[in-house]
Amino acid sequence: MKIGFIGLGRMGSAMAANLVKAGHDVTVFNRSPEKRQKLVELGAHEAARIADACRGEVVITMLADDAALSSVTLADGGIIGSLAKGAIHVSMSTISVALARELTQAHAGAGQRFIAAPVFGRPEAAAAAKLFIVAAGEAAAIETCLPLFNALGQKTIPIGPEPQAANVVKLSGNFLLASAIEALGEAIALVSKAGVDRRAYVELLTSTIFPAPAYATYGGLIAANRYQPAAFTAALGFKDIRLALAAAESLRVPMPLGSLLHDRFLRLLAQGGESLDWSALGGLAARDAGDAQAPA
Ligand code: NAP
Repeated sequence: MKIGFIGLGRMGSAMAANLVKAGHDVTVFNRSPEKRQKLVELGAHEAARIADACRGEVVITMLADDAALSSVTLADGGIIGSLAKGAIHVSMSTISVALARELTQAHAGAGQRFIAAPVFGRPEAAAAAKLFIVAAGEAAAIETCLPLFNALGQKTIPIGPEPQAANVVKLSGNFLLASAIEALGEAIALVSKAGVDRRAYVELLTSTIFPAPAYATYGGLIAANRYQPAAFTAALGFKDIRLALAAAESLRVPMPLGSLLHDRFLRLLAQGGESLDWSALGGLAARDAGDAQAPA
């Protein structure tokens, strides 16, 4: 399929590479041009402008946040002004429910189609084409994109015709992950300060009553104090808690744990943790506890 791919960060670079490897005709754009080079070497075409990545049947975006997606889509020379009628914009970034709604209307107004397909899985899962993709929007548009999703992930879960439903599901999932990270951080600080081996403790938990991948991944990172290089930055984690709380506020859904996580992230960022992995919330808990095993 002839497609464009915009946003070659930690996730997007791995995803675009898998689309090229699967035989799709991919044109890539990234704000910082040097990141396009690796994809060109793999066989992608380079777009010098956003419009050049909008000449196919589909354009995929994988950008940091609402501000990035909004400017790439709505600004002069952006996707709305460049994509053909009937073509599809697939938004795979983790964005707000409000922006997903706005883009659905803007694309419909331009005779284009918009689907939301945010993902679960970190860059290593993206590289291994093991993402879980939550897709929402017009069923026929999702059907058209299935060959692309199959090249990117291990499973695509369609959840209805309203694109923003996929975004609220993704935000709720990241709220759960952040809650697990905070809880793990506090529990590991407790046992660690009591003299129990941190790694053995995580192994005990994940081989008995908490066998979920989230506990294994984040428990392992916290036990090892391995917060760099970040696979998912604390800055982006904070963004997602803020977006979950915004969705909760507009629906009048109290999320007291979400409010707590908001302030835990704020504390982490205030202490210079912006570019650490979001699991560094666990390091914060250890420092608060005065645990001798806490990161410096
Ligand atoms: P990242 O490594 O920080 O990459 C962000 C991308 O957005 C880069 O291509 C960056 O371009 C671009 N960008 C940022 N601001 C921009 C702007 N104002 N205009 C144009 N482009 C802009 O982020 P990531 O980890 O790949 O995450 C991408 C999205 O996936 C986010 O929504 C994130 O929440 C979500 N996600 C991430 C993970 C993960 O584990 N990392 C997992 C699931 C979902 P430059 O290269 O020019 O800076």
